[in-house]
Amino acid sequence: MYLDLEKAMDKATESDRLKTAFLNNLSHEIRTPLNAIVGFTTLLGETGNLNEDRMEFMEIITHSSDHLLEIVDDIVEISKIEAKLVKLTYKEININEMLQRLYVRFKPSADEKNIILNYNKKIYDKETIIFTDGYKLFQSLKNLISNAIKFTQEGQVEFGFSVLDKIQFYVSDTGIGIEKEHHQNIFSSFYQAESSCTQRYDGTGLGLTIARAYVELLGGKIWFSSEPGKGSLFCFNIPDTRH
Ligand code: ADP
Repeated sequence: MYLDLEKAMDKATESDRLKTAFLNNLSHEIRTPLNAIVGFTTLLGETGNLNEDRMEFMEIITHSSDHLLEIVDDIVEISKIEAKLVKLTYKEININEMLQRLYVRFKPSADEKNIILNYNKKIYDKETIIFTDGYKLFQSLKNLISNAIKFTQEGQVEFGFSVLDKIQFYVSDTGIGIEKEHHQNIFSSFYQAESSCTQRYDGTGLGLTIARAYVELLGGKIWFSSEPGKGSLFCFNIPDTRH
């Protein structure tokens, strides 16, 4: 009984620590794109800037606004998940098309870092139509691929799926990997394994929490294996609902 109490206390203290770290990190995360938006909007309004420069300012403003929106979306989503307000909307989804969309979306950021991005497309489209919540599947994959690219400096990121007893998706990378001591925590809200390192990576520590919640809502499981310095492999499965 006493031990249980102590455990609960430890957990609460850890959760307070994570929340404080999150709030500090969040203000940094939100300020960075906001400052860019405000700063470059001001520059746009100034006379004397070349058209070429204006185009670049516009790009920075758009990118920063998108980034800001993503952060806000994640925070709203995690609150909904915690309040158990998330509902599923089932539809027919073509997995191949979804993978293609993800590839197009992430190719520019992979190119920018000189990382190879590959995806494994199944040949027959009609075999890849499943009945699921496409938005939640897309977001889960998006969060995993975005992490894979973020934490990889060289090599490649690959994603795809195979049909086992369930439909199993994977995202692999040749990035920094995750130390053993962090393995049990990385799916917790606000947790960032690399926060003790010198290098700062963007992020709020919500991506994996959202991915896990979505995968479980869809009736599946998520797991990973990882070796520091070698890379990581994230997998999840969802029910095989093909006709
Ligand atoms: P973040 O917004 O920080 O990316 P996530 O919840 O998506 O938050 O991930 C939590 C933490 O797990 C990350 O901060 C990072 O330390 C670790 N992590 C997740 N994916 C990877 C990966 N592919 N390679 C290395 N570390 C990862």
